[in-house]
Amino acid sequence: MGLFDSIYAEVECPATKTKEKQEIQIKWSQQRSLRTYKIGDVVDLDNKNTLWVKEDYVCNSCSRKTRSKFGDFIKVVDQQRHDCYIHIKNNKILEILTENEFSKTKNSCINPDNYEF
Ligand SMILES: [Zn+2]
Repeated sequence: MGLFDSIYAEVECPATKTKEKQEIQIKWSQQRSLRTYKIGDVVDLDNKNTLWVKEDYVCNSCSRKTRSKFGDFIKVVDQQRHDCYIHIKNNKILEILTENEFSKTKNSCINPDNYEF
């Protein structure tokens, strides 16, 4: 399994309409090493462009949780994933929008799987 970094941000769940802190894993920062970012942080990237990056995340709000003595967790079969759109300018995370919010901006986005950062 490859390493990743994570962005923690409040994103509204399209199913429950609640805004909750979500972990969005990203694999496109340089020298990924389980770092965590929040909105306003500068990502370790070498790309000065304004980008909208499409990602998805496992939703804390609508995924069924299983109790264990180590705390609640989400089984892989119970994962509910949603798309989100990360707005980056000068390598800084400006905002993260839901699919519905992003569609209203009429911006285009990149898919990190086939984009060279
Ligand atoms: Zn959800």
